[in-house]
Amino acid sequence: MLSQEETSKLKIGLEIHVQLTNLKTKLFCPCPSDYRGKKPNENVCPICLGLPGTLPQVNSKAIESAIAVCLAFKAKVQPYVAFSRKNYFYPDMNKNYQITQYDKAGGATIGIGGHVTISMDGERREIPFRRIQLEEDPGRLVHVEKGSVRKTYIDYNRAGIALVEVVTEPVMHQPKEARLVLEKIQTTLEHLGVLDPSFEGSMRCDANVSYAGGARIEIKNINSFREVEQALRFEELRLAYLPKLESNVTKRWGEKEGVTATSREKETEEDYRYFPEPDIPPILVDEKLVERIRRHLPELPDERLERFIRAYKLPEKLASILVMEKPVADFFEEALQFSNDPKEVAYWLTNEVVRRWRECDVDCRKSKFKPRNLAKLVNMVKEGALTPRMAKSVLWDVVLTGEDVEEYIERKGISIIRDPNMFKQVILKVLEEKPNLRENASKNERIIDFICGEVQKKLDGRADPIILRNEVKKLVEEED
Ligand SMILES: [Zn+2]
Repeated sequence: MLSQEETSKLKIGLEIHVQLTNLKTKLFCPCPSDYRGKKPNENVCPICLGLPGTLPQVNSKAIESAIAVCLAFKAKVQPYVAFSRKNYFYPDMNKNYQITQYDKAGGATIGIGGHVTISMDGERREIPFRRIQLEEDPGRLVHVEKGSVRKTYIDYNRAGIALVEVVTEPVMHQPKEARLVLEKIQTTLEHLGVLDPSFEGSMRCDANVSYAGGARIEIKNINSFREVEQALRFEELRLAYLPKLESNVTKRWGEKEGVTATSREKETEEDYRYFPEPDIPPILVDEKLVERIRRHLPELPDERLERFIRAYKLPEKLASILVMEKPVADFFEEALQFSNDPKEVAYWLTNEVVRRWRECDVDCRKSKFKPRNLAKLVNMVKEGALTPRMAKSVLWDVVLTGEDVEEYIERKGISIIRDPNMFKQVILKVLEEKPNLRENASKNERIIDFICGEVQKKLDGRADPIILRNEVKKLVEEED
């Protein structure tokens, strides 16, 4: 770990590429955008293959979605938008240029500025954006290794898919901050309805890092937020403790190896020879269109957070965990149709259910466990039909199988124990095993708690906590 002073010398900026998964077709041609699971090079046409003599045609829905993205992040939508050509030679881009947007050389990106708000260590922070732009996704290289033979195939199904790129200012100082920014951008775009993050590779990120004003390192194409944080932690330490780099470099994050490796000297912007895209005339953005999109913006995470705090009286921390993932927030609100205790539902959802989903790598969008089932369980704990410990162990199974909580309990013959005589035997056994507990128990509530805990362990957490506690007190006082 770096000290606070060292951390403040670290500067992190992000370039986030998000596929507009709400679109049915690609950015400049009528090819379908659902390329996943398709045969290689099935969703292609002369336009997205970049054949000579073809003309790109801008998908107006992509422009509208990008305007919505700008408005969601409070970026200024430009009245005049122009595409640019970014020239480079690489097999995933068969035209040898990418149609993108650029804020210089005659180009104009769709959005300028904007920001995202995160809360870190109990404080809210605004991370400003430099620009928001619209561009086409390149094709996909597929590397195949059979024995000693290595081959690379190219699949152009992804070529031409509409991407929105968000470029942040390099103002983050900690890897964790970068992860929070990515999570917040993801949940905002999902609330907006333009991104389905469960689509593999729909949100990708390049990160640039510099330390104490030294050379800039760019880490390319990191797939998960956890990896972004790990890659940045690695660079943070390397930059602080190893000799300074001579020049800017581009690096690749090795997920398996857990290190970054230099892939090439970083290109400068001049290397790309940007110039205005001659095949697409500049677009004038109608102010009325922008206003119409603004009026139809759905509820976004920041507003939803405020509503959760206000309407359900949730603590801010709990409410922000819920809205960080739209499906989790949706699950929560659906469960409230069957329970009138928002705090308990939120607690059980974020602490137990989400934890179990993560542990087993379950996508909560596809979970068999339904909100009504969670509400049932929470109600049973409230009514005293289950102890919290029993409820946890029930959840452990049903979160994965989706079995009805009541049916599960009946099938397993699980029931709460309320018989004081049964408790008496177990309490006496605990006191026999640990004779020193007897001495001060009657004067010390914490020892009583401890004895209750020991009894619960022996009874698989099935003892009614109130009856058990009374029984422990009664016996301890008798002992005196
Ligand atoms: Zn096409």
